[in-house]
Amino acid sequence: MSDRIEKVSAYVVEIPRDVPYLGPLREGEHVNRRGYIVRQGNRTLYPTADRSVVLRIDTERGLTGWGETYGIVAPDAVRAIVEDVVAPVLEGRDPSAPAVIHEDLYDLMRVRGFFGGFYLDTLAAVDIALWDLLGRRLGVPVSTLLGGRRHDRIAAYVSGLPRATLEERVAFARDWQAKGFRGFKFAAVVADDGAEAEIAALREGLGPRAEIMADLHWRHTAPEAIRLIRRMEPHRLAFAEAPCAPEDIEGIAAVARGVGVPVALGEELRTVFEWQPRIAARCLGIGQPEMGRTGITEFVRIGALCHATHIAVMPHAAIGVGLFMAASLQASSTLQKLPWHEYQHSIFDPNLRLTQPTGTRHMACAAGFYTLPDGPGLGVEPSAEMLALLA
Ligand code: MG
Repeated sequence: MSDRIEKVSAYVVEIPRDVPYLGPLREGEHVNRRGYIVRQGNRTLYPTADRSVVLRIDTERGLTGWGETYGIVAPDAVRAIVEDVVAPVLEGRDPSAPAVIHEDLYDLMRVRGFFGGFYLDTLAAVDIALWDLLGRRLGVPVSTLLGGRRHDRIAAYVSGLPRATLEERVAFARDWQAKGFRGFKFAAVVADDGAEAEIAALREGLGPRAEIMADLHWRHTAPEAIRLIRRMEPHRLAFAEAPCAPEDIEGIAAVARGVGVPVALGEELRTVFEWQPRIAARCLGIGQPEMGRTGITEFVRIGALCHATHIAVMPHAAIGVGLFMAASLQASSTLQKLPWHEYQHSIFDPNLRLTQPTGTRHMACAAGFYTLPDGPGLGVEPSAEMLALLA
Protein backbone atom coordinates (compact mmCIF):
# COMPACT_ATOMS: atom_id res chain seq x y z
CA MET A 1 0.00 0.00 0.00
CA SER A 2 1.81 3.09 -1.19
CA ASP A 3 1.52 6.37 0.64
CA ARG A 4 3.00 9.86 0.41
CA ILE A 5 4.00 12.48 2.94
CA GLU A 6 1.43 15.26 2.82
CA LYS A 7 2.48 17.60 5.60
CA VAL A 8 5.36 18.14 8.03
CA SER A 9 4.65 20.43 11.00
CA ALA A 10 6.81 21.56 13.91
CA TYR A 11 5.52 22.95 17.20
CA VAL A 12 7.33 24.57 20.10
CA VAL A 13 6.03 23.29 23.44
CA GLU A 14 6.79 25.14 26.67
CA ILE A 15 6.19 23.60 30.09
CA PRO A 16 6.82 25.68 33.22
CA ARG A 17 8.82 24.08 36.02
CA ASP A 18 9.11 24.92 39.74
CA VAL A 19 12.90 24.73 40.14
CA PRO A 20 15.20 25.47 37.17
CA TYR A 21 17.25 22.60 35.75
CA LEU A 22 20.48 22.17 37.81
CA GLY A 23 18.70 23.56 40.87
CA PRO A 24 18.04 27.00 42.38
CA LEU A 25 19.90 30.11 41.14
CA ARG A 26 23.41 30.50 42.51
CA GLU A 27 25.65 33.49 43.09
CA GLY A 28 26.19 35.56 39.95
CA GLU A 29 23.23 33.92 38.13
CA HIS A 30 20.07 35.71 37.01
CA VAL A 31 17.19 35.15 34.61
CA ASN A 32 17.55 37.33 31.49
CA ARG A 33 14.70 38.92 29.53
CA ARG A 34 14.28 35.79 27.34
CA GLY A 35 14.02 33.53 30.39
CA TYR A 36 17.55 32.09 30.20
CA ILE A 37 20.18 31.58 32.91
CA VAL A 38 23.93 31.34 32.28
CA ARG A 39 25.07 28.68 34.76
CA GLN A 40 28.37 29.90 36.17
CA GLY A 41 29.60 26.38 36.91
CA ASN A 42 29.81 25.34 33.27
CA ARG A 43 29.24 28.68 31.45
CA THR A 44 26.23 27.17 29.66
CA LEU A 45 22.82 28.65 28.81
CA TYR A 46 19.68 27.03 30.27
CA PRO A 47 16.02 28.09 30.08
CA THR A 48 13.89 28.48 33.23
CA ALA A 49 11.02 26.53 31.64
CA ASP A 50 11.20 23.14 29.92
CA ARG A 51 10.89 23.46 26.18
CA SER A 52 10.76 21.06 23.31
CA VAL A 53 10.05 20.90 19.58
CA VAL A 54 7.41 18.35 18.57
CA LEU A 55 7.25 17.27 14.94
CA ARG A 56 4.26 15.79 13.17
CA ILE A 57 4.22 14.03 9.81
CA ASP A 58 0.88 13.37 8.12
CA THR A 59 0.40 11.20 5.05
CA GLU A 60 -2.10 11.30 2.21
CA ARG A 61 -3.75 8.14 3.57
CA GLY A 62 -4.32 9.79 6.92
CA LEU A 63 -1.52 8.23 8.97
CA THR A 64 0.45 10.28 11.49
CA GLY A 65 3.97 9.90 12.92
CA TRP A 66 5.36 11.87 15.87
CA GLY A 67 8.91 13.03 16.50
CA GLU A 68 10.66 15.40 18.85
CA THR A 69 13.97 17.17 19.32
CA TYR A 70 15.67 19.50 21.75
CA GLY A 71 13.99 22.83 22.12
CA ILE A 72 15.60 24.18 25.23
CA VAL A 73 17.35 27.04 23.45
CA ALA A 74 16.20 28.88 20.31
CA PRO A 75 13.49 26.33 19.39
CA ASP A 76 12.29 28.58 16.56
CA ALA A 77 15.51 27.76 14.71
CA VAL A 78 14.33 24.15 14.31
CA ARG A 79 10.87 25.28 13.32
CA ALA A 80 12.33 27.54 10.62
CA ILE A 81 14.48 24.71 9.24
CA VAL A 82 11.42 22.44 9.06
CA GLU A 83 9.32 25.03 7.26
CA ASP A 84 11.95 26.31 4.83
CA VAL A 85 14.18 23.29 4.13
CA VAL A 86 12.78 19.95 5.23
CA ALA A 87 9.01 20.06 4.70
CA PRO A 88 9.10 21.08 1.00
CA VAL A 89 11.65 18.32 0.27
CA LEU A 90 9.63 15.63 2.06
CA GLU A 91 6.17 16.47 0.76
CA GLY A 92 5.10 13.89 -1.80
CA ARG A 93 7.78 11.41 -0.80
CA ASP A 94 7.18 7.76 0.23
CA PRO A 95 7.64 7.76 4.03
CA SER A 96 8.56 4.08 4.39
CA ALA A 97 12.38 4.41 4.24
CA PRO A 98 13.46 6.42 7.31
CA ALA A 99 17.20 5.70 7.06
CA VAL A 100 17.29 6.53 3.34
CA ILE A 101 15.43 9.78 3.95
CA HIS A 102 17.80 10.62 6.81
CA GLU A 103 20.83 10.23 4.55
CA ASP A 104 19.20 12.30 1.80
CA LEU A 105 18.37 15.12 4.23
CA TYR A 106 21.91 15.03 5.66
CA ASP A 107 23.33 15.40 2.15
CA LEU A 108 21.28 18.55 1.50
CA MET A 109 23.47 20.63 3.83
CA ARG A 110 26.72 18.73 4.45
CA VAL A 111 28.97 20.65 2.01
CA ARG A 112 27.92 23.84 3.78
CA GLY A 113 29.30 22.46 7.01
CA PHE A 114 26.01 21.64 8.75
CA PHE A 115 27.28 18.46 10.41
CA GLY A 116 25.50 19.06 13.70
CA GLY A 117 23.67 21.78 15.61
CA PHE A 118 20.11 22.80 14.89
CA TYR A 119 20.09 21.16 11.45
CA LEU A 120 20.83 17.71 12.84
CA ASP A 121 18.42 18.27 15.73
CA THR A 122 15.76 18.88 13.10
CA LEU A 123 16.70 15.68 11.27
CA ALA A 124 16.50 13.74 14.56
CA ALA A 125 12.87 14.80 15.01
CA VAL A 126 12.02 13.92 11.40
CA ASP A 127 13.71 10.53 11.71
CA ILE A 128 11.85 9.63 14.93
CA ALA A 129 8.54 10.60 13.30
CA LEU A 130 9.25 8.45 10.22
CA TRP A 131 10.12 5.36 12.31
CA ASP A 132 7.00 5.96 14.40
CA LEU A 133 4.91 6.21 11.24
CA LEU A 134 6.36 2.99 9.84
CA GLY A 135 5.77 1.11 13.09
CA ARG A 136 2.20 2.29 13.33
CA ARG A 137 1.52 1.41 9.70
CA LEU A 138 2.88 -2.13 10.21
CA GLY A 139 1.36 -2.46 13.70
CA VAL A 140 4.68 -3.18 15.46
CA PRO A 141 6.87 -1.33 17.97
CA VAL A 142 9.92 0.47 16.60
CA SER A 143 12.13 -2.02 18.49
CA THR A 144 10.79 -4.79 16.24
CA LEU A 145 11.70 -2.79 13.14
CA LEU A 146 15.25 -2.36 14.52
CA GLY A 147 15.89 -6.09 14.88
CA GLY A 148 13.99 -7.04 18.00
CA ARG A 149 13.59 -6.18 21.65
CA ARG A 150 16.22 -7.65 23.98
CA HIS A 151 15.11 -5.84 27.17
CA ASP A 152 11.54 -5.36 28.44
CA ARG A 153 12.91 -3.32 31.31
CA ILE A 154 16.01 -1.13 31.46
CA ALA A 155 17.96 -0.18 34.60
CA ALA A 156 17.57 3.57 35.31
CA TYR A 157 20.01 5.74 37.24
CA VAL A 158 18.85 8.88 39.02
CA SER A 159 20.41 11.88 37.29
CA GLY A 160 21.04 15.13 39.12
CA LEU A 161 20.35 15.90 42.75
CA PRO A 162 18.75 19.38 42.47
CA ARG A 163 19.04 20.56 46.07
CA ALA A 164 20.92 23.57 47.48
CA THR A 165 23.22 21.88 50.03
CA LEU A 166 25.25 18.70 50.12
CA GLU A 167 23.29 17.43 53.11
CA GLU A 168 20.02 17.93 51.20
CA ARG A 169 21.45 16.27 48.11
CA VAL A 170 22.45 13.17 50.08
CA ALA A 171 18.97 13.04 51.65
CA PHE A 172 17.43 13.45 48.18
CA ALA A 173 19.48 10.52 46.83
CA ARG A 174 18.55 8.41 49.84
CA ASP A 175 14.86 9.04 49.14
CA TRP A 176 15.32 7.62 45.66
CA GLN A 177 17.31 4.73 47.04
CA ALA A 178 14.38 3.92 49.35
CA LYS A 179 12.20 3.77 46.22
CA GLY A 180 14.42 1.04 44.76
CA PHE A 181 16.97 2.99 42.69
CA ARG A 182 20.60 1.88 42.78
CA GLY A 183 22.48 4.34 40.52
CA PHE A 184 23.01 8.06 41.16
CA LYS A 185 24.80 10.76 39.18
CA PHE A 186 25.80 14.09 40.66
CA ALA A 187 26.75 17.26 38.78
CA ALA A 188 30.23 18.34 39.85
CA VAL A 189 29.54 21.91 38.70
CA VAL A 190 27.04 22.41 41.52
CA ALA A 191 29.02 20.47 44.15
CA ASP A 192 29.97 23.53 46.22
CA ASP A 193 32.33 21.65 48.54
CA GLY A 194 34.07 20.00 45.60
CA ALA A 195 33.47 16.74 43.74
CA GLU A 196 35.57 14.69 46.15
CA ALA A 197 33.54 15.83 49.18
CA GLU A 198 30.35 15.22 47.20
CA ILE A 199 31.13 11.60 46.39
CA ALA A 200 32.49 10.93 49.89
CA ALA A 201 29.22 12.15 51.45
CA LEU A 202 27.09 10.29 48.91
CA ARG A 203 29.04 7.07 49.47
CA GLU A 204 28.63 7.36 53.19
CA GLY A 205 24.92 8.13 52.87
CA LEU A 206 24.10 5.53 50.22
CA GLY A 207 26.31 2.66 51.35
CA PRO A 208 28.63 0.31 49.48
CA ARG A 209 26.11 -1.12 47.00
CA ALA A 210 25.13 2.15 45.32
CA GLU A 211 26.63 3.06 41.94
CA ILE A 212 27.76 6.70 42.01
CA MET A 213 28.65 8.59 38.85
CA ALA A 214 30.02 12.11 38.35
CA ASP A 215 29.15 14.51 35.51
CA LEU A 216 32.11 16.89 35.13
CA HIS A 217 30.29 19.04 32.54
CA TRP A 218 33.25 19.53 30.14
CA ARG A 219 34.95 21.89 32.58
CA HIS A 220 38.54 20.68 33.04
CA THR A 221 41.85 20.47 31.29
CA ALA A 222 43.09 16.91 30.96
CA PRO A 223 45.60 17.10 33.85
CA GLU A 224 42.98 18.69 36.14
CA ALA A 225 40.44 16.02 35.25
CA ILE A 226 42.94 13.22 35.87
CA ARG A 227 43.80 14.60 39.32
CA LEU A 228 40.14 15.10 40.24
CA ILE A 229 38.98 11.68 39.04
CA ARG A 230 41.84 9.93 40.84
CA ARG A 231 40.76 11.61 44.08
CA MET A 232 37.22 10.27 43.56
CA GLU A 233 38.33 6.71 42.73
CA PRO A 234 38.80 5.55 46.36
CA HIS A 235 35.08 6.29 46.85
CA ARG A 236 34.31 3.84 44.02
CA LEU A 237 33.30 6.27 41.31
CA ALA A 238 31.44 4.30 38.61
CA PHE A 239 32.27 6.61 35.69
CA ALA A 240 33.43 10.16 34.94
CA GLU A 241 31.26 11.97 32.40
CA ALA A 242 32.39 14.74 30.05
CA PRO A 243 35.72 15.60 31.75
CA CYS A 244 37.06 18.05 29.12
CA ALA A 245 35.82 20.40 26.40
CA PRO A 246 33.86 18.49 23.73
CA GLU A 247 36.37 19.37 20.98
CA ASP A 248 39.42 18.22 22.96
CA ILE A 249 39.72 14.68 21.60
CA GLU A 250 43.39 14.27 22.58
CA GLY A 251 42.78 15.63 26.07
CA ILE A 252 39.84 13.29 26.70
CA ALA A 253 41.87 10.34 25.40
CA ALA A 254 44.65 11.28 27.86
CA VAL A 255 42.09 11.29 30.69
CA ALA A 256 40.75 7.90 29.60
CA ARG A 257 44.30 6.49 29.69
CA GLY A 258 45.18 8.20 32.96
CA VAL A 259 42.34 7.10 35.26
CA GLY A 260 41.02 3.81 36.58
CA VAL A 261 37.34 4.37 35.78
CA PRO A 262 35.59 4.62 32.41
CA VAL A 263 35.12 8.00 30.78
CA ALA A 264 31.54 8.53 29.57
CA LEU A 265 30.57 10.99 26.84
CA GLY A 266 28.42 11.56 23.80
CA GLU A 267 25.33 13.56 24.72
CA GLU A 268 26.42 16.45 22.47
CA LEU A 269 27.38 14.28 19.46
CA ARG A 270 24.79 13.78 16.77
CA THR A 271 26.13 11.49 14.05
CA VAL A 272 28.51 8.56 13.57
CA PHE A 273 30.84 11.02 11.86
CA GLU A 274 31.25 12.81 15.21
CA TRP A 275 31.47 9.59 17.24
CA GLN A 276 33.96 7.72 15.08
CA PRO A 277 37.10 9.87 15.71
CA ARG A 278 36.48 9.81 19.47
CA ILE A 279 36.03 6.05 19.48
CA ALA A 280 39.14 5.62 17.31
CA ALA A 281 41.14 7.78 19.75
CA ARG A 282 39.84 5.62 22.65
CA CYS A 283 38.26 8.56 24.48
CA LEU A 284 35.42 6.58 26.00
CA GLY A 285 34.48 3.42 27.80
CA ILE A 286 30.81 4.39 27.94
CA GLY A 287 28.79 5.98 25.15
CA GLN A 288 25.87 8.29 25.97
CA PRO A 289 23.90 8.96 22.78
CA GLU A 290 21.00 11.38 23.16
CA MET A 291 17.96 10.39 21.07
CA GLY A 292 16.69 13.98 20.87
CA ARG A 293 19.86 14.89 18.97
CA THR A 294 20.64 11.70 17.05
CA GLY A 295 17.25 10.40 15.97
CA ILE A 296 16.73 6.65 15.71
CA THR A 297 18.80 5.95 12.57
CA GLU A 298 21.98 7.55 13.96
CA PHE A 299 21.35 6.19 17.47
CA VAL A 300 21.28 2.64 16.11
CA ARG A 301 24.42 3.24 14.05
CA ILE A 302 26.20 4.71 17.08
CA GLY A 303 25.08 1.67 19.05
CA ALA A 304 26.62 -0.58 16.41
CA LEU A 305 29.90 1.38 16.50
CA CYS A 306 30.01 1.00 20.28
CA HIS A 307 29.16 -2.70 20.02
CA ALA A 308 31.99 -3.26 17.55
CA THR A 309 34.48 -1.51 19.84
CA HIS A 310 33.33 -3.00 23.19
CA ILE A 311 31.95 0.29 24.51
CA ALA A 312 28.91 0.06 26.81
CA VAL A 313 25.95 2.29 25.94
CA MET A 314 24.18 4.29 28.66
CA PRO A 315 21.85 6.63 26.79
CA HIS A 316 21.46 10.23 27.86
CA ALA A 317 18.01 11.57 28.78
CA ALA A 318 17.29 15.17 27.86
CA ILE A 319 14.50 17.61 28.58
CA GLY A 320 11.51 16.69 26.43
CA VAL A 321 7.79 15.94 26.43
CA GLY A 322 8.34 12.16 26.32
CA LEU A 323 8.37 11.37 22.59
CA PHE A 324 12.16 11.17 22.08
CA MET A 325 12.35 9.46 25.47
CA ALA A 326 10.03 6.73 24.19
CA ALA A 327 12.18 6.51 21.02
CA SER A 328 15.28 6.14 23.20
CA LEU A 329 13.68 3.28 25.14
CA GLN A 330 12.64 1.58 21.88
CA ALA A 331 16.14 1.78 20.38
CA SER A 332 17.94 1.08 23.67
CA SER A 333 15.88 -2.07 24.21
CA THR A 334 17.59 -3.62 21.18
CA LEU A 335 21.16 -3.04 22.45
CA GLN A 336 23.17 -5.91 23.91
CA LYS A 337 25.51 -3.99 26.24
CA LEU A 338 23.18 -1.61 28.08
CA PRO A 339 24.02 -1.31 31.78
CA TRP A 340 21.92 1.82 32.41
CA HIS A 341 19.70 4.46 30.85
CA GLU A 342 19.74 7.93 32.41
CA TYR A 343 16.57 8.90 34.29
CA GLN A 344 15.62 12.58 34.62
CA HIS A 345 13.17 12.31 37.49
CA SER A 346 12.24 16.01 37.33
CA ILE A 347 11.17 15.65 33.68
CA PHE A 348 10.08 12.08 32.95
CA ASP A 349 7.36 11.65 35.56
CA PRO A 350 5.73 15.12 35.47
CA ASN A 351 5.60 14.93 31.66
CA LEU A 352 4.05 11.43 31.43
CA ARG A 353 0.64 13.11 31.31
CA LEU A 354 1.62 14.65 27.97
CA THR A 355 1.72 11.25 26.26
CA GLN A 356 -0.56 8.21 26.22
CA PRO A 357 0.13 4.63 25.16
CA THR A 358 -0.60 3.48 21.60
CA GLY A 359 -1.23 0.00 23.04
CA THR A 360 -2.39 -1.11 26.46
CA ARG A 361 0.71 -0.22 28.52
CA HIS A 362 2.41 3.17 29.00
CA MET A 363 6.15 3.64 29.54
CA ALA A 364 7.10 4.01 33.21
CA CYS A 365 10.07 4.31 35.52
CA ALA A 366 9.78 2.84 39.01
CA ALA A 367 11.84 0.83 41.51
CA GLY A 368 15.02 1.40 39.50
CA PHE A 369 13.78 0.29 36.09
CA TYR A 370 12.14 1.70 33.01
CA THR A 371 9.41 -0.48 31.59
CA LEU A 372 8.55 -0.13 27.93
CA PRO A 373 5.21 0.55 26.28
CA ASP A 374 3.72 -2.34 24.30
CA GLY A 375 1.97 -0.53 21.45
CA PRO A 376 3.03 0.09 17.84
CA GLY A 377 5.46 2.79 16.72
CA LEU A 378 7.09 4.65 19.62
CA GLY A 379 4.49 3.04 21.88
CA VAL A 380 3.33 6.48 22.98
CA GLU A 381 1.62 9.41 21.27
CA PRO A 382 0.57 12.90 22.39
CA SER A 383 -2.24 12.98 24.94
CA ALA A 384 -5.21 15.33 24.68
CA GLU A 385 -3.33 17.69 27.00
CA MET A 386 -0.33 17.84 24.67
CA LEU A 387 -2.52 18.15 21.57
CA ALA A 388 -4.11 21.20 23.20
CA LEU A 389 -0.61 22.70 23.67
CA LEU A 390 0.08 22.15 19.94
CA ALA A 391 -3.12 23.79 18.77
MG1 MG B 1 25.73 15.19 31.12
